[in-house]
This record gives sequence, structure tokens and C-alpha cells, in this order.
Amino acid sequence: LVVLGIETSCDDTAAAVVRGNGEILSQVISSQAELLAQYGGVAPKQAEEAHSRVIDKVVQDALDRANVTEKDLSAVAVTIGPGLGLCLRVGVQKARRVAGAFNLPIVGVHHMEAHALVARLVEHELSFPFMALLISGGHNIIVLAHKLGQYTQLGTTVDDAIGEAFDKTAKWLGLDMRRSGGPAVEELALEGDSKSVMFNVPMKNHKDCNFSYAGLKTQVRLAIAAREIDAKCPVSSATKADRRNRADIAASFQRVAVLHLEEKCERAIDWALKLEPSIKHMVVSGGVASNQYVRFRLNNIVENKNLKLVCPPPSLCTDNGVMVAWTGLEHFRVGRFDPPPPAMEPDDFMYDIRPRWPLGEEYAQGRSEAR
Ligand code: ATP
Ligand code: FE
Repeated sequence: LVVLGIETSCDDTAAAVVRGNGEILSQVISSQAELLAQYGGVAPKQAEEAHSRVIDKVVQDALDRANVTEKDLSAVAVTIGPGLGLCLRVGVQKARRVAGAFNLPIVGVHHMEAHALVARLVEHELSFPFMALLISGGHNIIVLAHKLGQYTQLGTTVDDAIGEAFDKTAKWLGLDMRRSGGPAVEELALEGDSKSVMFNVPMKNHKDCNFSYAGLKTQVRLAIAAREIDAKCPVSSATKADRRNRADIAASFQRVAVLHLEEKCERAIDWALKLEPSIKHMVVSGGVASNQYVRFRLNNIVENKNLKLVCPPPSLCTDNGVMVAWTGLEHFRVGRFDPPPPAMEPDDFMYDIRPRWPLGEEYAQGRSEAR
């Protein structure tokens, strides 16, 4: 089996070709970093245009680098949600054109399921059931994966995701926004004292597995204002004392943001083991899982509970086409795919796109356990 995966749910245009045995034949990403810096975040219309400009080339490059043509493919996999509707459309349209022209089946992929399942490409021992903490720019969810396509959501964010908090912290600290904020905060945090600013850990009194990052964001903003840090002055031109101040905030923010993950993960593991005592692994994936401090701290928690942590390599934690191709392969193998679309579809065709699409059912019992 050879599957082409296409991903356009947010700001990266990505494609990859993956073999059934997990061999990655190619991986191509075109990022909209310049646009992000310009608008200070993802602007849907601009993002859609950027996807449209590069999608053909990204897919062609993925095929070329894999040394295959469309005729060698077994199927085309594409992210159909959750994400920005306008952006998803670009990927789905491209996938259907390729599939239509070459008579290939098509697999619609859930972006967050893909973040979780790519761990199975990396770690062959990882079998169901397992747990997954998915932390990215728009999501902060912890799920119990019973089997392929069947998930119980133990917790989610009640407001912002941790990646969003990293991005805003980077912006307010005057860090280089030509790449995403997370890596910039992680790097600056290495120079700071993580106990110098006493941020409160969110949701201390909640006995559930949900997350909240809006309050921590506000705490960071106030701390930055109190220290009179000027975001317009880039950190690279800051005085030594100013730089140190910013590093202290970055480190203190990161410590508390991750402490919140640690506390909720511990509880979620206890809940999950009651439901599925045979769980052996916890996956941590999504863009924020590429953070080394996050990995180190969560590894301690997971090992203390006698589970094994599985983190994909950083390039497979942030958005990529490999995770989509791989998740497509998993579903394709068990017969879950759509037949080849017609060779020609009108431009205004109503594609099956799901901008909002929960991953699995909410854990109903959670509400009583949380009391
Ligand atoms: P979602 O998956 O929720 O739809 P997304 O697809 O935009 O969001 P991903 O590419 O999965 O996001 O993750 C991007 C997020 O990960 C950004 O918020 C970014 O700041 C964060 N991130 C990336 N690297 C790091 C890092 N080293 N430390 C902390 N955060 C990071
Ligand atoms: Fe993502």
C-alpha cells in the first residue's frame, strides 16, 4: 500500500507519501510563517489564498521526492476537519481532483486523530487501548483510544489551548514571530528562572480533567505590563536586564503551563485505567509536544503510573502530511474509505468538510467522578 496524505486545516500546506509498513517516502511542508508574522495570527482568507497558491506544487513535490506517480498510489487521504473551513476546502478539492483523475479511493481524516495515530507509525508496540494527550494551537484534549476510530474524551480546554498561550506569550515578549511562538518561548525560557514569577496554576480546585489557559494568558500579560516590557522592541535588541526579565517570564510561564498538564494527566490516567486496565502507553502529540521541557515533565508523570510515554519526533508533532497519510492507511486497511470521486466536479461542489468535529464522546461518568 502507498498513500498520499494532504493537510491544509490551518496555516501549513503539507503533503506526504507513506507506505503501508510505515516507511515515509516523502514529506513536504510549505508554511505561512511570513503571513503569520504580518497578521499576528492566522487570517482565514489569506491562509486560504496561500494554500491555493502552493497546493499543486506541494503535492507534486511529495510525489516526486517519493519517486512515485499517481498511478502507484493505493488511496488519497485528506484532512476534512476540524479546522478552518476555507482552508480545509483547498486540501479536499485537491485530494478529490487527484483521486478523480486516477480513480483512487479517498479517505477523509480527522486532524486530531492523525496527531494521535502517527505515534503508531513511530512506535510499533503501540496498540489499542492507549491514552493520548493532544496539545496544539487550537486543541488541548486528553482521550482514551479504545480502538481505531473509537475515542472517549476525558478532558478538553474550557477556553484556550496551551499552544495559543505559548503563541501570545511569544508575541507579548517581543519574540521573533516569523516562526510559531512555542519554540521561541522554549528557547528563551532556558535563560530564565522558572520560579521568579509566581503564576497561579489554573483550575486548582476542579476535580475534573479539563484545562484552561485563558487565565494564565492574562497573568502573563499583566506580568509583562508590570515589568514595562515593550513588545515592539525585539528581544534581540533588548538590554541585558530587559532580556533577563523576559526570560524569567518565559520560564515561569512554561513551568506553570506544563504543571497544569501534569496535574490533569495524572488524574486522567487514573480515570482511564479504571475504564481500560490494560492500557500501557500514553501518547503526547500535537505541536506543543515538540517542546523538550513538556516531554521531560510528562515522562515523569507517565512513568510514575507505570505507563510508557510515546512522543513522535518534533517534525511529526507539528502539522504534517505524514500523519494524515498514516491515519488514512489505518482506515483504508479496515475498509473505511470513500469510492473514487467523479473525474470532474464543479467548483461549488459541497464537499464533506467538518470545521468542528469532536474526537469521540465526552466521558459522561467524568462529571460524577469530578465531584
Ligand atoms: P490544531 O492541531 O489544534 O488544529 P495547529 O494544527 O495549528 O492546531 P500544530 O501544528 O499541531 O497546530 O501545533 C502548533 C502549535 O504548537 C503552536 O501553538 C505552536 O506555538 C506550538 N508549538 C510548536 N512547537 C512548540 C514548542 N517547542 N514549545 C511549545 N509550543 C510549541
Ligand atoms: Fe495540528
